[in-house]
Amino acid sequence: MTAKLIKGTEIRDEILKEIEAGVKDIKEKHGVVPGLVTILVGENPASISYVTAKIKTAKALGFNEIQDNQSPDMTTEELLVLIDKYNKDDAINGILVQLPLPKGVDEKKVLNAIDPDKDVDGFHPINVGRLMIGGPEVKFPPCTPAGIQEMIVRSGIETSGAEVVVVGRSNIVGKPIANMMLQKADGANATVTIVHTRTKDLAAHCKRADILIVAAGVPGLVKPEWIKPGACVIDVGVNRVGEKISEKTGKKIALLKGDVDFDEAKEIAGYITPVPGGVGPMTITMLMKNTLNSLKFKLGLM
Ligand code: NAD
Repeated sequence: MTAKLIKGTEIRDEILKEIEAGVKDIKEKHGVVPGLVTILVGENPASISYVTAKIKTAKALGFNEIQDNQSPDMTTEELLVLIDKYNKDDAINGILVQLPLPKGVDEKKVLNAIDPDKDVDGFHPINVGRLMIGGPEVKFPPCTPAGIQEMIVRSGIETSGAEVVVVGRSNIVGKPIANMMLQKADGANATVTIVHTRTKDLAAHCKRADILIVAAGVPGLVKPEWIKPGACVIDVGVNRVGEKISEKTGKKIALLKGDVDFDEAKEIAGYITPVPGGVGPMTITMLMKNTLNSLKFKLGLM
């Protein structure tokens, strides 16, 4: 059996088109566009590249994008003042603080200072609580789990009554996606199991999964024989396992591998996401969707 490939790049493009249309519609009817501020503290190269990609996407969608770069010696107190300024700014619908923050800055304090109604990353405890309650309470599902759910739903995979096994219990992927899949809602209604480093028999749980979501950060952790024939496998893992020469640019780039042994797994699974090009492209897309929705909530359109 050769699995159907769930391409994050294609689903991303589809959702970006919908967001772009939503922005145009609101602009025509209400004369406003979504406002997103990206706060980058310091010069971490990976953070710069993530922020650059977010800014580029926001601008291409017609958002009002404010790029706020700050020096690496910024204190927690100074950052709190900055957050307060954007909390009060009516033109800003989404506040994104790029992580990690420099050592010495109280990351938790900074993230908790963001107005929950502008917390488009969905990490504020109020939004975590809203996600847990589910239904109309949910404003901003965290971006990677939201992207995973979109990929499953848009691929036409039945989730109602499905056995979903999530490998990993992090606050940014494992716990929220498990929570989302068990809600009484479309694209959910699943029976969910979370497995982690203390789980006794990882293989036995994985073998039961109709939908297997793997977010452990361990290359090749899930063995092909753990996959139920025909299952949907969502590989969230992004692991740098070496370097290779890019065919496009001739430059050295990171060689990435997922948490699932893709070549063998695709012969057993019914659906599978590649790494790269699977879950990865979805995260920024869902950040943009949350920012548009933030404006919609403000205008009473949602
Ligand atoms: P994390 O390190 O915070 O959490 C990993 C989880 O996996 C932990 O709960 C741990 O208990 C579990 N785990 C680790 N090793 C295990 C093992 N041997 N057996 C069972 N469980 C094990 O990581 P994270 O932030 O959730 O990210 C997970 C992976 O997903 C990473 O590779 C990360 O790079 C990737 N990721 C990708 C995206 C994206 O594509 N947009 C976004 C977030 C994370």
